[in-house]
Amino acid sequence: MFDKILIANRGEIAVRVARTCRRLGIRTVAVYSDADAGAMHVAACDEAHRIGPAPARESYLNAARIVEVAQTSGAQAVHPGYGFLSENAGFAEACAKAGLVFIGPPAEAIRAMGSKSAAKRLMEEAGVPLVPGYHGENQDSALLRQEAERIGYPVLIKASAGGGGKGMKVVETRDQFDVALASAQREAAAAFGDARVLIEKYLTRPRHIEMQIFADAHGNAVHLFERDCSVQRRHQKVLEEAPAPGMTAARRRQMGSAAVAAARAVGYANAGTVEFIADERGEFYFMEMNTRLQVEHPVTEMITGLDLVEWQLRVAAGESLPLAQEQLSINGHAIEARVYAEEPARDFLPAAGTIRRLRQPQASAHVRVDTGVREGDDIGVHYDPMIAKLIVWDIDRTAALRRMRGALADYQIVGPGTNVQFLLALVSHRAFALAHREPGLLDTGLIGRYHSELLPETKPATDVILALAVLSELSRIDAQACAEALASGDPWSPWHARDGWRMNEDNHHVFAFDDGDRVVEVTAHYRRGGFLLDLPGGSTQARAQAETDGRLVLDLGGRRIHGTVVRQGDQLTVFADGVSHRLALRVFDAIEDEQAGGTLAAPMPGNVVQVLVQAGAQVEKGQPLMIIEAMKMEHTICAPAAGTVKEVLFVPGDQVRDGEQLFQFERES
Ligand code: ADP
Repeated sequence: MFDKILIANRGEIAVRVARTCRRLGIRTVAVYSDADAGAMHVAACDEAHRIGPAPARESYLNAARIVEVAQTSGAQAVHPGYGFLSENAGFAEACAKAGLVFIGPPAEAIRAMGSKSAAKRLMEEAGVPLVPGYHGENQDSALLRQEAERIGYPVLIKASAGGGGKGMKVVETRDQFDVALASAQREAAAAFGDARVLIEKYLTRPRHIEMQIFADAHGNAVHLFERDCSVQRRHQKVLEEAPAPGMTAARRRQMGSAAVAAARAVGYANAGTVEFIADERGEFYFMEMNTRLQVEHPVTEMITGLDLVEWQLRVAAGESLPLAQEQLSINGHAIEARVYAEEPARDFLPAAGTIRRLRQPQASAHVRVDTGVREGDDIGVHYDPMIAKLIVWDIDRTAALRRMRGALADYQIVGPGTNVQFLLALVSHRAFALAHREPGLLDTGLIGRYHSELLPETKPATDVILALAVLSELSRIDAQACAEALASGDPWSPWHARDGWRMNEDNHHVFAFDDGDRVVEVTAHYRRGGFLLDLPGGSTQARAQAETDGRLVLDLGGRRIHGTVVRQGDQLTVFADGVSHRLALRVFDAIEDEQAGGTLAAPMPGNVVQVLVQAGAQVEKGQPLMIIEAMKMEHTICAPAAGTVKEVLFVPGDQVRDGEQLFQFERES
């Protein structure tokens, strides 16, 4: 076994490889770009070396530089992770030339599987079933059109050198063929520097089922069962699970032998995945082979109890496969969800920014979180915006789904938008949730078919969400008043009284929130021991108690709810009942002090920055009156009702106390 290896990757996979190395007592060398100097994978390894600027081309794809670092750091082997250089035969060869073991298959096997067309020809010879299609060298467009006719529409045009769904076009009818071909060729040339394409029968409602295989250098090869990765968005996987819903033992055996035959046909060693597409009858066809560890390998680990990175290291070090086929078995059911920084409501646009708060589900025998980012880290624009992979396991699919729903509900991410709510809707949707009973519900079109149900219009904030937001703001104001009282010379002054505001009972506080396109107002009346909140659903008694880690226990009309409110500037993110909701604290209404006879008071202590009205001004409800700076932020103080400003009591530069009168005001009758 190796003493020291270099991990030529970043993010969760680099952290995950380092974890196994640590368990096995292997030292690890990280590489990082300028964007990743403080990244989690750097901290996870024993030593780390800078390899270049942020763009991957100049860092994580710089094979020569990575080989140089491996040599100077004394690493004996290189783990490429997935993506970047993991399927680059030239890199595997460069490692070998430098006397380093590439922890992956031989360069020839990578090359043989690198072209989808060449791989298909090889598989045809090895007797592995293929989707009816054309994968020849001749790229004459008249010939390609003729082949499409022969196969029969609809057909799929794919880039031979393709990956990640690029250069892939569905052609429904003959008259669309020429335009689609030209477009696929352009995309393929731009993305892979190779315009060659292949044509396949386009299967309607197919499933993506792949077999994990493993081979060693001593002629042993096994499969570690299948993964179903049918839940995709634009041909990219979103959920993966093992075993596949509805899979029979006989079909698993057939697929397993086909996958092992595929591996043997190219002299494979180490971990690989043979991807199949299956039709409604369960017939399956070879699609491609990925010559590396897959993103979704953890679901296989969860049902087999094995560590595939450990197997990779052992095989690369020359050992035989730890187990034979008959020693392998499936235990329970595992599901993986990819948690991304993206905006599902905006066509899943990648999101970037700093993660201000990150609370992940608690890891256990049932829940595994593979992540490469921590709270405070940036999700940049240079790399894949994946935040984490959430993997759950239980004795069967129903139980695993329950674990998944619970774990997703525990996520708290503030900062860039994420797909957590979308994933929750997806795993809760009947089509996915019932797929083990009715496998026909599951196919690669699932997300597209239920798009509107999975991405519902943003719902208005519930009373619980609003109550949590208001009570957390009130407790913040309270804490601030408390700190000011302690800092002042006269902590017992009635100005600092915090219970029920000041002397009279009917003072109230008006909060206005931007909630999507709506504006919601909540008035909080101070009552002994709590508040009466005027919520959209009615007036309710409420009080809250702060717990640790920003959590609150809310008592809303006798119902107890745990929630968390995270404030970032004027943005509030409220987590409760397994949902997260964003609100913007719109502006602060001045407090209308009915008892004091038509005065408006400051809702918070601060400095007057600007006065926006003069005495005598007629104002509308919500009209800005004054800007106060408090806690390094500017707050606009607005009119709580239409009326006349009779007198302005402060000028810019003045300090105001919490609850202090700002204006004499006459409410419109
Ligand atoms: P890439 O390498 O670009 O990811 P793949 O060949 O792996 O492309 O295909 C990606 C996805 O496209 C599959 O998981 C499947 O959903 C869909 N797909 C591929 N081939 C077909 C086909 N012949 N018919 C229908 N869908 C297909």
